[in-house]
Amino acid sequence: MLADTFGRVATDLRVSLTDRCNLRCSYCMPEEGLQWLAKPDLLTDEEVVRLVRIAVTHLGITEVRFTGGEPLLRPGLIGIVEQCAAMDPRPRMSLTTNGIGLSRTAEALARAGLDRVNVSLDTLRPDVFKRLTRRDRHGDVLRGLEAARAAELTPVKINAVLMPGLNDDEAPELLAWAMKNAYELRFIEQMPLDAQHGWKRTEMITASEILRSLRSRFRLTPERQEDRGSAPAERWVIDDGPHCVGVIASVTRPFCRACDRTRLTADGQIRTCLFATEETDLRRALRRGAPDEEIAHIWRLATWGKKAGAGLGAPDFEQPDRPMSAIGG
Ligand code: SAM
Ligand code: SF4
Repeated sequence: MLADTFGRVATDLRVSLTDRCNLRCSYCMPEEGLQWLAKPDLLTDEEVVRLVRIAVTHLGITEVRFTGGEPLLRPGLIGIVEQCAAMDPRPRMSLTTNGIGLSRTAEALARAGLDRVNVSLDTLRPDVFKRLTRRDRHGDVLRGLEAARAAELTPVKINAVLMPGLNDDEAPELLAWAMKNAYELRFIEQMPLDAQHGWKRTEMITASEILRSLRSRFRLTPERQEDRGSAPAERWVIDDGPHCVGVIASVTRPFCRACDRTRLTADGQIRTCLFATEETDLRRALRRGAPDEEIAHIWRLATWGKKAGAGLGAPDFEQPDRPMSAIGG
């Protein structure tokens, strides 16, 4: 088990497959991109699969989420999914993607054993999409979403971040559209994880503001607390149901007490939290030929030291050195 000193147990593994991306979302990356990880530093496909296998067979991981950067840019993605699907016990597998290229790969991913996808889409307006992501790819994302639904990578969830002055008026419209198209929408509060360090607490759109905006058009009833489990999203039933909307209030209402996550970066570092300032190197152990049990032990020790919370509200809060795209969101 991956237990920590606060009684939490990590069962959900986020695996970043690359730090590279084909978009430049303003809350994530600067326009010019970043210094990408060097190829020899990246885990190979075999190394990724071995670490997932150790997590699943030795450490009680039951959920694996592939992310990045943009995971669809990883050439070996389908093979990695296939090998993870053959593990015993078989983990549930999902993918967080910006959706570009998903129209070509959704079928193959489903065949390889992927269970579902989360696609990031912040706006229904192509011009706003272009300003927000600095790329003119809105149509590609919409086609990717449709392909995911057709390939039954369901429920297809949409992650949306609202940015002041750009898309902060779009919450009700996005929700109406998501319901019509059978996508499950979740809003994520903007977090201080951008490479440019441009996040300001006073400028971010808060969960309360998102809910106020949604309530201008819909009746929202909170989902029963016992149905939430360790999910970071608080969910509301819309009008009389059956549709729901989620809000992940990582900044204003963090859910650290029930956190069940552990993270593996594309260069083989374990992070116990998005906001951790320390990492534990598994790549070095892998490459010096450590046996599975030793790697599992290093992972357990790292988890034992997990902090109580992200500390976003604390006066000594320090933004981690790595941005979201390099950690794996
Ligand atoms: N490229 C993929 C994508 O965009 O879905 C996967 C990686 S991305 C880092 C994962 C999620 O993190 C996306 O839904 C994105 O909107 C979200 N994200 C990125 N930067 C963020 C920030 N500063 N605050 C909140 N969410 C952020
Ligand atoms: Fe790329 Fe995802 Fe970051 Fe946007 S949020 S720049 S799509 S990694």
